[in-house]
Amino acid sequence: MTSAILPTYARANLAFERGEGVWLYTADGERYLDFGGGVAVSSVGHSHPHLVEALTEQAKKLWHTSNIYTIPLGEKLAQRLADLTFADVTFFTNSGAEALEGAIKTARKYHSANGHPERYRIITFEGAFHGRTLATIAAGGQKKYLEGFGPVSPGFDQAAFADHKALEAAITPETAAILVEPIQGEGGIRVLPTQCLRGLRELCDRHGLLLIFDEVQSGVSRTGKLFAHEWAGVTPDIMAVAKGIGGGFPMGAFMATREAAKGMTAGTHGSTYGGNPLAMAVGNAVLDLVADPAFLAKVEAMGLLLKQRLAELKDRHPAVIAEIRGKGLLIGIRTLVPNTELVAELREEHLLTIGAGDNVVRLLPPLIIDEADIADAVKRIDKACATIEKRLRDTAKTAAE
Ligand SMILES: *Cc1c(COP(=O)(O)O)cnc(C)c1O
Repeated sequence: MTSAILPTYARANLAFERGEGVWLYTADGERYLDFGGGVAVSSVGHSHPHLVEALTEQAKKLWHTSNIYTIPLGEKLAQRLADLTFADVTFFTNSGAEALEGAIKTARKYHSANGHPERYRIITFEGAFHGRTLATIAAGGQKKYLEGFGPVSPGFDQAAFADHKALEAAITPETAAILVEPIQGEGGIRVLPTQCLRGLRELCDRHGLLLIFDEVQSGVSRTGKLFAHEWAGVTPDIMAVAKGIGGGFPMGAFMATREAAKGMTAGTHGSTYGGNPLAMAVGNAVLDLVADPAFLAKVEAMGLLLKQRLAELKDRHPAVIAEIRGKGLLIGIRTLVPNTELVAELREEHLLTIGAGDNVVRLLPPLIIDEADIADAVKRIDKACATIEKRLRDTAKTAAE
């Protein structure tokens, strides 16, 4: 059957009807263990009672008013985020790319407000992913996303990953900011070393640049801290957030210090839906759960346990698994076979995972997983690896005959 959906995704022939916790169910009742979390979105699992209640209660009262009026739940969420992070102010968006667009505009406007409109260029990193809008594909700099879409949006310079010297050489009098994911997600769960993050902060301070973190994937407790940069003890001037912050409701945010956001005055930016009452009800409910220190401690513990168990699998299956990397519940398995092969084999085992760059299979489970879920997932990965190994052996045997 041909689909009426624009075919920009190579979709799996698999549909789900409902979800509960870490499980997804098809219409005929088959269940899948969800270690993809809808790409790090389902931060507290599916149909979490606290989120369902927040959403349905709000749905009965008021869905939308527009940002022309004060939205009390948005005021509340922004204040809570200000209390919990480096940021003083937040702008709510509907997606990650929209959050990045706002972050980029904020950085450029800062220098313009300081009398330096020529400082508009932003340095990004090889392997980065910042979204699919015209500006964010330019920021990501990946050819496969840019090709055929006309002139590349100007103002982005790309530096090698974790190369301090190359980075310093890329800074010019036109540079406004450095934009980086503390842990590259789509790029293949590449963790930027702590000394690099500290080096970036120091470099930005020395050159009067703003530091922008893209924590769309790494943020909202995914690594066991509310935001991944907290591990390094450095703070950005601006940060983009999305995915897990809505727990499945489409929302994002860009946040900034009051100083960095000085150019963003009335009329400079907007969004019709951004931060509407429905989104804010859910956003507050997500934060109720994920900002709790006990929740964060459990994410860290589960992340360590999962990584440990995966390291054992790497030893058992050296022909399939090359490396385990990541932090908290943002984990990458770099494979020796095509990553798509392991993702497909895991799907056969009813374990959902997600591919990434650098031949990596991503594990981004809901942050509520426990020891039993990890044991279950590890068993399925073990089995999938064994199947692939058998196939490799059979192929080798056929070739030798
Ligand atoms: C997913 C992602 C984005 C884009 O978010 P959308 O909601 O798809 O627009 C941007 N940056 C990072 C790091 C991401 O993982």
